[in-house]
Amino acid sequence: MQIDQDTCVFGLIGYPLAHSLSPFIHNLAFKAMGVNAVYLPFPVKPGRVSSVVNGARALGIRGFNVTIPYKESIIPYLDRVSLEAEACGSVNTVLIEEDRAVGYNTDGRGFMDSLEQEGVKVPRFAIILGAGGAARAIGYQLAVRGAITVFLNRTPERAEKVARDIARITGQESWGMSWDSSCISDFVQDAELLINTTPVGMYPDIDQKPPFVLKNLNSRSVVADIIYNPLNTRLLREAEGLGLKTISGLGMFVNQGVRSWEMFTGREAPRKLMEDRLRGLLLKNET
Ligand code: NAP
Repeated sequence: MQIDQDTCVFGLIGYPLAHSLSPFIHNLAFKAMGVNAVYLPFPVKPGRVSSVVNGARALGIRGFNVTIPYKESIIPYLDRVSLEAEACGSVNTVLIEEDRAVGYNTDGRGFMDSLEQEGVKVPRFAIILGAGGAARAIGYQLAVRGAITVFLNRTPERAEKVARDIARITGQESWGMSWDSSCISDFVQDAELLINTTPVGMYPDIDQKPPFVLKNLNSRSVVADIIYNPLNTRLLREAEGLGLKTISGLGMFVNQGVRSWEMFTGREAPRKLMEDRLRGLLLKNET
């Protein structure tokens, strides 16, 4: 790649960033599409997030992604956030245009894109394991499309709060409770979609799975995991063993990246190339 005075700079802020695959897919897409841009990891040390937006403006950085632990704490430093990011309370993409920094969240739509790509219809009733930023983003997208969602979480108060917020913002019915609550058996049979949004089962703890009894789901339920490393988590392997359709987190990861990349460049991203190369890389790492 030729870097010159016209090269646009994009990047990712978070901490730590050692294992992020975002630079790989964004730079791959720039190269494939002949875009004169570069995407860099910026590991921002704790306590430094307050300087990021002004620093990016000063350096002429046109946009950046945001990951753990700054998805919420970046918000006070932005000029505006999209309705969706406001509803989720978290930002994963920042665009800087004419010095104004605007925050967006592409996680929820990225997940919905992957459902569509897998031919899965928006469910009438879904169960989300977890109540963090990703759960909130997906729950919001499901609710605005008319799905009723139950959040099951290790910390029940957090699940109750997410459900209350989503019900208030969208007007859609939403519930939250502990994931070992005794009343789960009353509704599990009705769930058309179960989504794990916790990191339980993620590399290197690949033998773990959330404590949810899959065999109580009905045979038409779809099980999704937003973890993409490994591609096939223990939860998904068990669901496959029961004959259930499964969706890995790779599609969501690619789609949220595609949406960010298209916002950065104003061009259509080479989605298939990004997904194929990422899948290849993850499979290589698994062997
Ligand atoms: P987060 O805001 O920190 O939320 C984490 C959630 O997982 C919380 O509900 C937390 O429960 C629960 N949790 C964490 N560790 C747990 C454990 N050991 N046992 C039980 N529950 C546990 O994180 P996030 O941003 O939502 O991200 C969650 C996961 O999604 C991460 O693995 C991330 O890599 C993945 N992700 C994937 C994509 C993608 O594109 N595929 C996009 C975003 C995120 P408590 O409330 O009890 O703490």
